[in-house]
Amino acid sequence: MKSHLPSSIYGPVESWRLGISLGVDVLCVDSICSFECVYCQLGRINRVTKTRAVFVPTEKVLADLENADWPRADVITFSGSGEPTLAANLGEVIERIKLRTHKPIVVLTNSTLLYDPQVRRELYKADKIFCKLDAWSDAVLKRVDRPTEGVSLETIIAGIFQMRREFDGFLAIQTMILRPPNEFETEKLAEILYSIRPDEVQLNLPTRPVPKEYFLETRGNSVGFADGGAKIKTIPPAELENLRAKLSELTKLQIITR
Ligand code: SF4
Repeated sequence: MKSHLPSSIYGPVESWRLGISLGVDVLCVDSICSFECVYCQLGRINRVTKTRAVFVPTEKVLADLENADWPRADVITFSGSGEPTLAANLGEVIERIKLRTHKPIVVLTNSTLLYDPQVRRELYKADKIFCKLDAWSDAVLKRVDRPTEGVSLETIIAGIFQMRREFDGFLAIQTMILRPPNEFETEKLAEILYSIRPDEVQLNLPTRPVPKEYFLETRGNSVGFADGGAKIKTIPPAELENLRAKLSELTKLQIITR
């Protein structure tokens, strides 16, 4: 019987840091996240929650995989229509895709559920985990990421910190920069990064348009500003480079920019 759900697999697409990446979207019934980031390329998060559930059955994801050009991919990336760790079958899906493809698995997470040991255990089946950390204070967290109730910077950092201690794979921190932190804030951010000791820190600028509403294609990288998306105000690349150099000096970590 043909499923009425869209495909949970998209791409493969060329990614600046991963090579040819095949996307897995374990949430594709809607946009679902525990954040409503001001720069979110999905446009609008229709279900703001931190409750886990199965949104797309594992067998459906595996059937979609068979219909995709997965052999061409260098890597398989879990991202898509929101926060992948909200899918209660995430661990099972990672395991089954890995068994089938033997490709490296990357998960992009917003870090809000990492305080949960079960979520961390599921993520450890991946090879690389990219953790979002946009804020150095609860005020910045509220302004930039607009979390659902019960999410604090303290629980986010504690979750990432615990993951760093337990996970043998590659752990990166992704930080979106909308305005440059002042000296005090830069030191605060450096302190947090230093305490986590990730393998890499990626400083990003919001280059993707923010559409008014969520539609499935927003999960990929083919939606342009011409399609009605808004551009987010940010800083020039030279200022980002200054911040990178400063954070690198303070933390001695590998810090890259885009
Ligand atoms: S965490 Fe990602 S999916 Fe969720 S609102 Fe932020 S940018 Fe969008």
